[in-house]
Amino acid sequence: MGKGKSKTDIIKEIEEFFLEIKNKTPKKIKKLAMRYNVPLKEKRKTFCKKCFTPYENPKIRIKNKIKSVTCENCGSVSRWRIKSNSS
Ligand SMILES: [Zn+2]
Repeated sequence: MGKGKSKTDIIKEIEEFFLEIKNKTPKKIKKLAMRYNVPLKEKRKTFCKKCFTPYENPKIRIKNKIKSVTCENCGSVSRWRIKSNSS
């Protein structure tokens, strides 16, 4: 705890957090990730970027390779381009 955490520790902490994201607020973990420069990548998409509520039953729409996810908590819409590299 406290100072002297390595980036590996932080990555592990983030991974563990996202394994059980339900009923948690990713706000802190996002700050942590930003501070240690750890990219959240796909994990970013598991919670609302506005109110930080983890998505449970979001409205998902896919149109023109853009995925729109509506937060059931605040109504904020996040959009992501769907990559078409199916390897
Ligand atoms: Zn929200």
